[in-house]
Amino acid sequence: MARRGPVARLGIMGGTFDPIHYGHLVAAEAARTEFDLEVVVFVPSGHPPHKKDSRLTPARHRYLMTVLAVATNPWFEVSRVEIEREGYSYTIDTVKAFRERYGPATELYFITGADAILEILTWHRVNELLTMCRFIAATRPGYHLDGLGQVLQKLPPEGRGRIHLLEVPALAISSTDVRERVRCGRSIKYLLPEAVEHYIYKNHLYVSDAEAEGVEEA
Ligand code: NAP
Repeated sequence: MARRGPVARLGIMGGTFDPIHYGHLVAAEAARTEFDLEVVVFVPSGHPPHKKDSRLTPARHRYLMTVLAVATNPWFEVSRVEIEREGYSYTIDTVKAFRERYGPATELYFITGADAILEILTWHRVNELLTMCRFIAATRPGYHLDGLGQVLQKLPPEGRGRIHLLEVPALAISSTDVRERVRCGRSIKYLLPEAVEHYIYKNHLYVSDAEAEGVEEA
């Protein structure tokens, strides 16, 4: 996991990152500057509980692409905490691991997509989770917030106040679109860092379900 030491505010950037793209990177940088985070640790999901039936690219590829993507930002790090943990990747276990590592004085911010936060009521031990960290829900401009508003109303007021919205224009980019472009032979240039683009082609990722090297069940 990330460095030890006194950190006042730490961001935990959770996502599947299949693959990581500039939308994720711009969102993490915006969260860092707007919430005055000292470090943002990217945590590629291991076995997401909500993706039991979907096919994910093996964790080692998603992890390595994330490492390549953050290499030039001194405030960004990558953690293997979820990909090394057995069983499903519950966010509460991840946040607990960071809490143990950094101690009670560090304010933790879990950053992820607003669409993922929309499902937060279904997350494992959500009320307890909301006492352990703040959430930053990254949205693209024009994102319809009604659904999220309804979800937030169902949370206890103290939990609701711990979910913050962050508008990120670059989130018009999506991993689904990147995968589809590769499958169809269309360009992915300027949607993600060049090192990640090269990694995808070198490892024949996203070419097709059958061809993608070592694609595994989630
Ligand atoms: P997802 O359902 O695949 O993604 C939903 C939307 O959010 C997509 O548009 C996605 O865009 C976007 N997104 C995902 N991660 C993002 C990020 N870090 N920054 C900005 N946008 C992001 O979501 P997921 O990636 O599987 O899960 C997101 C996080 O929530 C993970 O850390 C996961 O472990 C956690 N989670 C926990 C539980 C639980 O504890 N029970 C349940 C569900 C999710 P892209 O496809 O372009 O990334």
